[in-house]
Amino acid sequence: MPILLGCIADDFTGATDLASFLVASGMRTLQLTAIPTTELDLSEIDALVIALKSRTQPVDDAIADSLQALHWLQKQQCVQFYFKYCSTFDSTAEGNIGPVIDALLEALHESFTIACPALPINGRTVYNGYLFVNGELLNECGMQHHPLTPMHDANLVRVLDSQTQRKVGLVPHTVIAQGVEATREKMQQLAIDTSYAIIDSLTQDDLMTIGHACSELKLLTGGSGLAIGLADNYAAKGLFTRQQNSAQLTKQPGEVVILSGSCSAATREQVEVFQQRQPSLKIDPLLLHSGQQSVASVMQWFEQYRSQGPLLIYATDHPDAIKRYQDKLGANRAGQLVEQLMADLVRHLSNLGIKKFIVAGGETSGAVVQALQVSALKIGATITPGVPLTQTVGDNPQLLALKSGKFGGPNFFNKALEMML
Ligand code: ADP
Repeated sequence: MPILLGCIADDFTGATDLASFLVASGMRTLQLTAIPTTELDLSEIDALVIALKSRTQPVDDAIADSLQALHWLQKQQCVQFYFKYCSTFDSTAEGNIGPVIDALLEALHESFTIACPALPINGRTVYNGYLFVNGELLNECGMQHHPLTPMHDANLVRVLDSQTQRKVGLVPHTVIAQGVEATREKMQQLAIDTSYAIIDSLTQDDLMTIGHACSELKLLTGGSGLAIGLADNYAAKGLFTRQQNSAQLTKQPGEVVILSGSCSAATREQVEVFQQRQPSLKIDPLLLHSGQQSVASVMQWFEQYRSQGPLLIYATDHPDAIKRYQDKLGANRAGQLVEQLMADLVRHLSNLGIKKFIVAGGETSGAVVQALQVSALKIGATITPGVPLTQTVGDNPQLLALKSGKFGGPNFFNKALEMML
C-alpha cells in the first residue's frame, strides 16, 4: 500500500493536531520531528506528518525546510500532500504561508490549491473569506496581540493575497452548502485563472464536503480540520481500510512538569486556574536578559518545590507586559530568550529522569522537542480536540502533551495530568 498522505506542518503542535485528526479518521499516522536520515519501515503507515518549525523562520529558510520535507515525502511516493498551518492562519509580516505554498505548488508542478484553515470544533470558522474565532473576527479575538504572529486582518483573501504574487479567489459558503459536486465545480472554475481558493466552512459537515471535493488535488493546505474528509476518499478508491488505531502508549512512572510559553488568552486562563492550586514560577524575559534569572535559578526553584509538584513554569503573560518586554528587547529576542530557557530547562529536567511534560505553545513545543532530540512521536488518545497525548519513539520513551496555545478549556492542565498518570 502506498503512503496516502504526506504532510508538512509549520509547527510542532500543529503537527500533533493534524496527526490526531488523521488517527481519529482511521489512518495509521507517524509524526516525524525531523527528516529521517535512515530508512524507516513504513509498511504499516497511511499518513506521515513532518513537523517543522517554519512558521516564524525567515521566509527563505521556511521555503527551504518545506521543500526538503516535500522531497523526502515525494520519495515515499505519497498519493497526496498537505501543508498544515494554524487554524488562525498565523503569519509573520513576510508570510510564511503564501511563499511556502507557492514553492510547494511549483515543486509539484501544480497550479491550484485551496486554503482551508477552519476548525469548527474549536470555534474557527470562515465565512465570505473572513476568519472567526468563537464568533469573533480574527483581528479582534486576541490574535492581534500574538507575540510573534499578530493578525490584524480577518479577511483571508486579502491576507493571502499580500503574501503571494498569484491570484487568490474564494469558494463561498453558498457553494459549499450545495454539496461536493458544486464545490468541485467552483474549484475547477477558479483554477482557470486563480492559484488559490480560500474556502468557507462553518461546520464539520462543511469540512467533509470540502475534503470529498478535494479528492483529486495533489496539494491541500489548511488547518487540521480539512483532513477529516480525506480518509473517505482513499477508502472509496480502495486504497485503504480504516483502522481503530490511536496508539497504546506506555505508562510512565514519575512526575510531570508543565512548561508554558504561549501567551494566548486560552493559555493565560489555564495558567491562572492551575497556579491557584499548585506552585508555579514565572519566567521574565528581562531577567533572563540581565542574567538575574537563568536555568540554574529555575532549577534551584524546581528542587525547592519538587515535593509539592506537579509544578508549572511559565512565561505566559498579558499583551501589555509582552509589549513592554518586546519594546526593550525586540520581539524575536524576547521570544528566543524564553524558548532557549525552556529548551535548556527540559534538558536538565530530562537528565534528572523526568519523562513527562505538558507544553503550551507551538514555538515553545518546537524548542522543547528539539532539545529532547525527539525523532518521531506516536499519537495516542485525544486530551482535547487537536491535542493528543504523544509518546516519543526510541529507547527512552517520554510522554508529551504538546498544546497549541489557543486550544483547550480552563482546566486543560489538570485534564492532561490525569491522562498522564
Ligand atoms: P502559541 O501556540 O500561543 O502561538 P508559541 O509558543 O507558538 O505559542 O508562541 C509564543 C511565543 O511568545 C514564543 O516564542 C515565546 O517564547 C514567546 N513568549 C512567551 N512569553 C513571552 C513574554 N513574556 N514576552 C515575550 N515573548 C514571550
